[in-house]
Amino acid sequence: MKAPKKGIAWEKLGFGFSDVNCHIRYTWKNGKWSAPKFVKEPWINMHIGAACLHYGQECFEGIKAFRQKSGKIVIFRPDENAKRMYRTAQRTCMPPVPVEMFLDACDRIVRKNAEYVPPYGTGGSMYLRPLLVGTGPQIGVAPASEYTFMIMVMPVGAYYKGGLKPVRAVIFDEWDRAAPNGMGDVKVGGNYAASLFAHEKAKKEGWPVELYLDAKSHKFVEEFATSNFAGISKSGAYVTPDSHSVLPSVTNMSLKQCAKDLGIKVECRPVPYAEIKKFQAVAALGTAVVITPVWEITRGKDVIRISDPDTVHPVLQKLYDRVQGIQYGTVADRHGWCREVKG
Ligand SMILES: *Cc1c(COP(=O)(O)O)cnc(C)c1O
Repeated sequence: MKAPKKGIAWEKLGFGFSDVNCHIRYTWKNGKWSAPKFVKEPWINMHIGAACLHYGQECFEGIKAFRQKSGKIVIFRPDENAKRMYRTAQRTCMPPVPVEMFLDACDRIVRKNAEYVPPYGTGGSMYLRPLLVGTGPQIGVAPASEYTFMIMVMPVGAYYKGGLKPVRAVIFDEWDRAAPNGMGDVKVGGNYAASLFAHEKAKKEGWPVELYLDAKSHKFVEEFATSNFAGISKSGAYVTPDSHSVLPSVTNMSLKQCAKDLGIKVECRPVPYAEIKKFQAVAALGTAVVITPVWEITRGKDVIRISDPDTVHPVLQKLYDRVQGIQYGTVADRHGWCREVKG
């Protein structure tokens, strides 16, 4: 496997696009997927009538690959992302990418860009962004006749340099993210379009993340705009909402397992808004950051202070260290979560 490329300031990398060698691309036509193609240019030439442009037939995934201490390059739980994209494709009438093809595509694109997987010890990783879009022209409302599956990759840095950094969150009762029987449980770009307005308002007013309550009653906690919700209860349990309109996060799934492995009780159940003030800690969970502690939540005049602005609850720290340890190969991978990319 190729060593990291010389001349890149790995420590300074943020979370953004950067040029690499290529992306991988497949097309679906007449009922079957093409062979893979590596494409150097970061452009897609598509029909102006493409279904993804008009009717939002689009979905994506987010995955990370790590250069471990031993030098191995591994991808973290891509099988879970493959299964999730399969479900999303079914929900949006797109041809699902077979799990084996998805995993093979991940291996191929990481191998082709191996020198862009950051060195061990810099806190960086390679971010993989699989996309499935309807590219066939479709003006009458119907599923497209052609699709494109792509994976783009880019090196990214540690989201927060210098460890976990608690943030403030806000709840806006004016906007919902996902309807009870809507698309909240699948990873479509449309969910992000639905939350952008509130997200921009939150950012402008000083809250890096927004939390959503259930759209029907506004009584139960669902998730943050782009990450799952977990709280540490008074008794020390890991509590996370059980709801049909929450996206099943691979990070949350992994943290639940790590909690069990550490002897921490896990509760997956409805979480009333009124319970938030009883939590010892609250966190936002997702691939990009793993865990973002939340120290304060504002809803109108209601300001819930959960913890100190700069202390991280020891349970959150322990869970974070365990997941990162498995990813970087310093903690035993008991559940076989790391998929090695062999050269
Ligand atoms: C992607 C996403 C998450 C996080 O999922 P991970 O698999 O942990 O990265 C959480 N919520 C929403 C709405 C998402 O789109």
